[in-house]
Amino acid sequence: MRKKIAAANWKMNLNMSDALQLTHDVMKGFNAVARNCEIILAPSFPYLSYIAGLTKENNSIHVAAQDCSAHSHGAYTGEVSAQQLKSAGATHVILGHSERRTYHHEQSEILYEKIKQALSHNLKIIFCCGETLQQRNSEKHFATVTQQLEETVFKLDPKELSQVIIAYEPVWAIGTGINATAAQAQEMHQCIRKETRNKFGNEADHLPILYGGSCNEKNAAELFAQPDIDGGLIGGASLKTESFLAIADALG
Ligand code: PEP
Repeated sequence: MRKKIAAANWKMNLNMSDALQLTHDVMKGFNAVARNCEIILAPSFPYLSYIAGLTKENNSIHVAAQDCSAHSHGAYTGEVSAQQLKSAGATHVILGHSERRTYHHEQSEILYEKIKQALSHNLKIIFCCGETLQQRNSEKHFATVTQQLEETVFKLDPKELSQVIIAYEPVWAIGTGINATAAQAQEMHQCIRKETRNKFGNEADHLPILYGGSCNEKNAAELFAQPDIDGGLIGGASLKTESFLAIADALG
């Protein structure tokens, strides 16, 4: 059985006290009923160790950083290394988010370096992939996503792959209020699983593949009912306790 996961990408939102309050409220609601899923909270760097401290007793609640450096340590002002994240209590790191690809020009080469850094410090990876609207409209969406994976996580060995969660996030759906339909998302998740099976055999059955892109409490149940969708990476809707918990509820 694959893990069901609701991951909250808070991006560059919330001040310290709001982030701690949201963590507290989400934990309370999450613990109030029996769950069949894990949650991962991805706050900004400065709050990581506080939130990791709040959640550390709960085996189903994890803490992710939103990025890490491609370098191990040294004179890289403003960057945060995988080792530093681990020492601050992070268990996961989001890599390859389309906002990093767009605004920071991150491409596969540097993402692969970041993946290796994260793995060498025992951080699990939420690796984002997804096509632009133009790529979809020109029917290049499957090829685009497959290439993004081939140049990065498909270069890992099977043991390393077991530390990876994939998040399919069509760029045109992120923060736009326009989600991929359940059928569009399932079709891509099925493709990702098939490509993973071609490279890694049965490891593909254990790979969690999350959907991200305007996922909310209204559309989550239909998306999560698809056989290859194992949960969601949630942006805007993860900033409100009720919405995020309703999305977790949709995972059962
Ligand atoms: C994201 O940025 O990972 C995301 C899925 O954002 P949103 O849910 O706001 O579309």
